[in-house]
Amino acid sequence: MKIMKFGGTSVGKPERMHQVKDLITRDSEKKIVVLSALSGTTNALVSIGEALAEGKKDLAKERIDTLHKHYLAFFPELLKTEAARKKGEKIIQEHFEFLNILLKISFNEAINRDILAQGELLSTKLFYTLLQELDIKAVFLPALDFMSIDENNEPELKKISEKLKSILANYPQDRIFVTQGYICKNHRNEVDNLKRGGSDYSASLIGAAVNSEVVEIWTDIDGMHNNDPRVVDKTRPIAQLSFDEAAELAYFGAKILHPASIWPAQHANIPVKLLNTMEPNAPGTTITSKEQGTGVKALAAKDGITAIKIKSTRMLLAYGFLRKVFEVFEKYKTSIDMITTSEVAVSVTIDDLTHMKQIVKELEAFGTVEVDKNQTIISVVGNMIAESKGTLANIMDCLRDYPIRMVSYGGSRHNVSLLVEAKYKNDALRSLNEGLFSW
Ligand code: ADP
Ligand code: ASP
Ligand code: MG
Repeated sequence: MKIMKFGGTSVGKPERMHQVKDLITRDSEKKIVVLSALSGTTNALVSIGEALAEGKKDLAKERIDTLHKHYLAFFPELLKTEAARKKGEKIIQEHFEFLNILLKISFNEAINRDILAQGELLSTKLFYTLLQELDIKAVFLPALDFMSIDENNEPELKKISEKLKSILANYPQDRIFVTQGYICKNHRNEVDNLKRGGSDYSASLIGAAVNSEVVEIWTDIDGMHNNDPRVVDKTRPIAQLSFDEAAELAYFGAKILHPASIWPAQHANIPVKLLNTMEPNAPGTTITSKEQGTGVKALAAKDGITAIKIKSTRMLLAYGFLRKVFEVFEKYKTSIDMITTSEVAVSVTIDDLTHMKQIVKELEAFGTVEVDKNQTIISVVGNMIAESKGTLANIMDCLRDYPIRMVSYGGSRHNVSLLVEAKYKNDALRSLNEGLFSW
């Protein structure tokens, strides 16, 4: 069994969906095909939810109509026979009727999550209709029947595995299964999701749940590049990464992978491949437990970071101080990315500002608290870079023109992280690219 996940651009045009059909029928291996929403759809759904949340029903209606038009133009190009087109039209009608009904009822967060789920429901149903039209035998697997998260929004891998295996057992002869990425049920049995970009996470969870041979993430680029190609001109794909290196890059901002998408595959020791739908024969990136080479392999940057410094002379020679500080973050379920300490101060970074006010208030009991918003973490990732001679000196040399707020070195063997003000991010990434890669 293999998992093949296709992202938004890979299904965003009718001809791309046809390409996906070609890719999943290239071999007769058993596979679960995980699809994202058509590119642009989730953004549109987010903006519909925002308009509704602000009570701007006219604006929401306008946005629903624009999206509706997009789908009405999409399906006749995707589907050719009269029967398939009728089915496609009906699917679109059902989902847009649902969105239009929401204009008439009062809005809440659960409804918003229902709105966000429409993209993956539409893409998978339309794709499944294409397979039916072409007489390609496949099974439609609703993700909401097996994908779930607990009260802490953590995927319930054991439950997911049990449910999915029991569903698959009903189809011993079938080779192709089609399901939605991103969407799931929460502990209240409401429709929920795995956060933006979550289809990668779905694919990895599904891989771990059925113990697949490989998880293939098909996207619009030929694998993980050594730097953010949206910012830096000269980047190139990396053939091989370890799970730890890939997880660090994903967590610290490489958009090609959802931040949490590596752990399920790593946990089950399943290789992850990053492949290009538009160039299916390019080697892409293979991610396994194998650690290869030394030195810097890639850079990533995570935006929207806030640094908090707690300064107190009571910290001097006192034990238990850090525990008290961390307990505040634990209480508000806010995870910390970077930490640096000195004799009289501790600085941490967070990206979730939901409970910022309460956190700062409680921290003030321990000393003076300073908050710096609009920061970016730049992560330099590679096998054993924390041990390779001169790496830190090279990094610092590249960044000599930019003020560095924090440095985290030695926490893991694969990573050196630096905190800079967001305004320096692009220049810092470019300068590091020039200085650390000799090509
Ligand atoms: P999908 O819709 O297939 O999930 P995404 O847009 O989420 O695709 O991810 C692919 C994009 O990630 C690429 O087009 C690229 O612009 C961006 N990206 C950012 N950092 C990297 C990186 N280090 N390597 C490759 N792609 C990256
Ligand atoms: N459609 C969702 C998003 O745009 C999930 C995904 O594409 O992975 O965030
Ligand atoms: Mg993505």
